Amino acid sequence: MAQQDEFDPRDHRTTTTEQGRFCVARCSCGWRGPARRARSLAREDAEGHLAAG
Ligand SMILES: [Zn+2]
Repeated sequence: MAQQDEFDPRDHRTTTTEQGRFCVARCSCGWRGPARRARSLAREDAEGHLAAG
């Protein structure tokens, strides 16, 4: 995985983070998706963010 301190604002690097029973998509640009109950849904949020950005 990418090192988190390598922040490049030109590059959107999405990851999914588990928070309790939920999964949240996050991006290196600071974007953060809603809490999802499934990692697959969080990944869809991340893909949507990449498509919109
Ligand atoms: Zn982003």
